[in-house]
Amino acid sequence: MLQVLNPATEDPVATVPAATPADVDAAVARAAAAQRGWAAAAPADRARLLRRFASVVDGHVEELARLEVTEAGHTIGNARWEAGNVRDLLDFAAGGVERLNGRQIPVAGGLDITILEPLGVVGVIAPWNFPMPIAAWATAPALAAGNAVILKPAETTPLTALRLAELALEAGLPEGLFQVLPGTGPVAGNALVEHPGIAKIVFTGSTRVGKSIMAKCAGQVKRVTLELGGKSPNIVFADADLEAAAAAAPMAFLDNSGQDCCARTRILVQRSAYDRFMALLTPAIEEIVVGDPSDERTQMGPLISRAQLDRVRSYVTDDLTGIRGKAPEGPGFWFPPTVLTDVPEDAPCAVEEIFGPVAVVLPFEDEADAIRLANATEYGLSGSIWTRDVGRALRASRAVRAGNLSVNSHSSVRYWTPFGGYQQSGLGRELGPDALTAFTETKNVFISTEGPAL
Ligand code: NAD
Repeated sequence: MLQVLNPATEDPVATVPAATPADVDAAVARAAAAQRGWAAAAPADRARLLRRFASVVDGHVEELARLEVTEAGHTIGNARWEAGNVRDLLDFAAGGVERLNGRQIPVAGGLDITILEPLGVVGVIAPWNFPMPIAAWATAPALAAGNAVILKPAETTPLTALRLAELALEAGLPEGLFQVLPGTGPVAGNALVEHPGIAKIVFTGSTRVGKSIMAKCAGQVKRVTLELGGKSPNIVFADADLEAAAAAAPMAFLDNSGQDCCARTRILVQRSAYDRFMALLTPAIEEIVVGDPSDERTQMGPLISRAQLDRVRSYVTDDLTGIRGKAPEGPGFWFPPTVLTDVPEDAPCAVEEIFGPVAVVLPFEDEADAIRLANATEYGLSGSIWTRDVGRALRASRAVRAGNLSVNSHSSVRYWTPFGGYQQSGLGRELGPDALTAFTETKNVFISTEGPAL
């Protein structure tokens, strides 16, 4: 059984049965049967059903959001956005069903065409930090491209995923096409990875587990997309609008209590602007409202679990100095907004993903030094560049090795633009105009116009 706790209070919320390998076998058989009918259905019918699913989700945004506040401690504002994001992803993917075009390639003596075929049954293994959006990033385009999906949510956050599966049936999606199997990673997750009936795994989670899944997929040459960790830079040049950069820096790493793979947790500041920037950043951190996530004014809620709290605490040792915000006392997994200063560039807190409300500030001398520091990590997921110099913004955007950059902004994720990591932040891309093709095989067919040889 999986025990779901409210991370703001530590109160039990629900217990959910954990799937066994036999449950996975049965789910794969149901999914394979459903997928055959789904792939054969008229594109317009598939699109219509996905739009209806989006519409049913839209009617339950508030309910889903409240559930996410309770099981994951997300602020209510964020949780509403997340449920709305599921709706938008389904709508966007539905628009792709009738646009999943192959190509016609000039070949002498006939006609050459490509056909984009669905893969079959796709396994989606999701983390706890954004249970709804990350599940939908893969599920919506996979379904739209004609596949069936089995989603394994994280142990701590199965409830919104289970509700989405119910809403899919309510919308009229065929039984078995989209199934949610809560369970542990090593049992249910691993059974999906090893199952020969699963054509592709989309995994979002830690780099450690992602590497082991990639290795196991290699045994069957199973398709895999990995969205892994990050330690992203927020580069502030001295010529930037420092007020704007300092005002935006806190929520760029504190959103979702820092449990965000795109969190800008390495704030790199040009030395000539360092003192001014810190004078602006300090009150901005101290004023962050941390507390009851169901309160509309709250900016930051608790961490997901005691294990995550212990992990975050282990990085913020007593010898470190910096800025400390406020956090509630008493039950719940609370940690205050924290900015560490005067740390060595290669300190664990400066190079390892903490996945909590902790950032470091490191000074740099010039553009070359900024790029060197920004790239001094094994990750490469996202990052921000603050400058008023357009040429510098473009040079830095090209030089930073990361999949998702923003200039004078911290936005990373839109369902209609591509998302994914360089280096050990991942493999493959999700979202964006090509989202559906990641769930297809390309078949090339040549049709001779010459007739059979006599
Ligand atoms: P995790 O790797 O422990 O777990 C992620 C999922 O994998 C869970 O569903 C878990 O049950 C499952 N899992 C664990 N072991 C498994 C195994 N051996 N076989 C199959 N499945 C297994 O990570 P987490 O603690 O849930 O999430 C935090 C991490 O995820 C952070 O490192 C964060 O950066 C990363 N993350 C990355 C992105 C991204 O898009 N790049 C998004 C969110 C989270």
